[in-house]
Amino acid sequence: MTKLLEGRIVAEKIKEEIRSQVQGLKSPPVLVSILIGDDPGAITYVSSQAKTAESLGIVYKLFKLEHDITEEALIDFIIKLNTDKDVNGVIIQMPISQHIDYKKVSEFISPFKDVEGMHPANMGKVLFGRARIVACTANAIMELLNSTGVDLYGKEVVIVGHSEIVGKPLMLLLLEKFATVTVCHIGTSKVGKLEEHVRRAEVLIVAVGQAGLIKGEWIKEGAIVIDVGINRVGDKVVGDVEFEKAQKRAAFITPVPGGVGPLTVALLMRNLVEAAKLQK
Ligand code: NAP
Repeated sequence: MTKLLEGRIVAEKIKEEIRSQVQGLKSPPVLVSILIGDDPGAITYVSSQAKTAESLGIVYKLFKLEHDITEEALIDFIIKLNTDKDVNGVIIQMPISQHIDYKKVSEFISPFKDVEGMHPANMGKVLFGRARIVACTANAIMELLNSTGVDLYGKEVVIVGHSEIVGKPLMLLLLEKFATVTVCHIGTSKVGKLEEHVRRAEVLIVAVGQAGLIKGEWIKEGAIVIDVGINRVGDKVVGDVEFEKAQKRAAFITPVPGGVGPLTVALLMRNLVEAAKLQK
């Protein structure tokens, strides 16, 4: 029987842990969210984050900045937040206006307040296996894998997609568990080797953003399949893996939506609590 890996269930357990940790802090942690302009997607994230924060006893402060704010003004604002002792975490909502170089600007967020875990210093700590603030999506995938109870030691793990927010940090987190990790990307597909790698995966994680990229018949019998992809097809949201066919072969599989997504906000809040502890 295939088991569905539902992020909501794992997220509830993590939220319980966060609630009790928040109660143990001297004062409620404060997350500052920077919204530039009025992108509807970003507004949706903000309201979901605000709701989760409130349910966990976390203070969520939203700052709405003009869509044409200059990079310099944004950087100045971030630097002020870095030195503000009443602020424990900072997040810039995406998508962001084209005229702002997100990578450049986000590096100004102090690594101690970087709740997304994307600052080079926090990424570097992942490399050394001693990160306390970890990239949320990669960490969400690790939590889902952990929830299966399957030991990753020596397992053939194949990641499809080598982005900085998913594939690359995930590769390092999996190596910490002594998995044997293969990372596939556009080059793998272009030389026609994607199927070969996917077919031998005992654990498959796909984060590309192309509906139907991974054929159901490629899935190894009994595999764990984590589909990170989010694709709108007509009025439906689907992942990168052909779910119906893959479900017949996998031992565990994430639904899309409902797999990785519900966990990422919880892990953002867990990073905030870690950040608050680091700042003590
Ligand atoms: P991204 O930065 O665009 O990265 C996509 C990756 O897929 C790149 O490494 C790219 O390689 C690779 N790729 C592209 N075409 C490929 C192909 N035909 N075969 C193999 N690899 C291919 O995207 P991302 O930010 O990592 O997100 C990936 C997907 O996950 C998106 O659908 C996104 O919406 C979703 N996502 C979901 C969550 C969640 O919470 N559920 C969080 C984050 C992302 P090259 O760069 O070399 O072209």
